[in-house]
Amino acid sequence: MKRFSISLAALIFTGINFMALSSNAQGQIREKQTEIVVLGIAQDAGYPQLNCKKECCQRVFKNPALAEKVVSLAIYNQKTQQYFLLEASPDISAQHQYMQEKYAATLAGVFVSHAHIGHYTGLMYFGKEAANTNLLPLYVMPRMQDFLLQNAPWEALIKNKNVELHALTNHAKLPLGDSVSIQVFKVPHRDEYSETIGYRIIGPNKTALFIPDIDKWERWEIDIISLIKEVDYAFLDATFFDGKELPGRDMSSIPHPFVAESMALFAHLPQGEKSKIFFIHLNHTNPLINPQSQASGQVEGAGFSIAREKMIFPL
Ligand SMILES: [Zn+2]
Ligand SMILES: [Zn+2]
Ligand SMILES: [Zn+2]
Repeated sequence: MKRFSISLAALIFTGINFMALSSNAQGQIREKQTEIVVLGIAQDAGYPQLNCKKECCQRVFKNPALAEKVVSLAIYNQKTQQYFLLEASPDISAQHQYMQEKYAATLAGVFVSHAHIGHYTGLMYFGKEAANTNLLPLYVMPRMQDFLLQNAPWEALIKNKNVELHALTNHAKLPLGDSVSIQVFKVPHRDEYSETIGYRIIGPNKTALFIPDIDKWERWEIDIISLIKEVDYAFLDATFFDGKELPGRDMSSIPHPFVAESMALFAHLPQGEKSKIFFIHLNHTNPLINPQSQASGQVEGAGFSIAREKMIFPL
């Protein structure tokens, strides 16, 4: 079962590439499109995680090729060769390098969902000690904006004009060039320093949902199942596989929808709906972070998918 489902996922992605190639092979002019590129899938603290003595990370400390970058998506426009970055992760340098090497893409702007370390601390690499960017557009909600304005080292980025703040409004649609727009919406999360948002990315042909962090589906006034019906891809918070994952820690103080809970909630959906779901934002302890694990096979065998770095989703 495990082997079958992994090759099925591989087929889906070969399929996307094949479609692009075949239209070229037929000599048709393929319209330059916008696509989502997955740049990272790990929870805020990355993979491997500092000081983790367990097998989950020891195998990666011994074999760094197995490492995973912190969660981030690029919205890449082939026509302009520009991309917008969703989340400024601590792995931003390598993530930007990938966009440059693979796509010769320049960075057009950055969106940040909330003030937890995996989602905004990459901003520090735009500052004076680093890339020293000039007025790079930075899109944030009002509380997140206040947090950046009131705290070092972030306020220096604004004072030195490394970034230019653009305020986001809950549910407002913002065009990103001529063919794609983005809509952000508040989600319930431990909002100590900022509000937390999810994203809807609306392309000319496809729409994607990206919710990297949310407390629990039932704590949200919006019905996730109806939302999935409205989109083509749904990248959903899958921090923990189940409630047994962090022995010795009170998991109710760090709520997330467990993968086991999400799978139960979505179990009755037709396969067409399930296949839209890509689990992302994986903690180092979540067995889904290892593509070869039994749990990865189980999730894919049940018709769901797991986001992996470098996956491409045409919009
Ligand atoms: Zn996070
Ligand atoms: Zn670990
Ligand atoms: Zn968070």
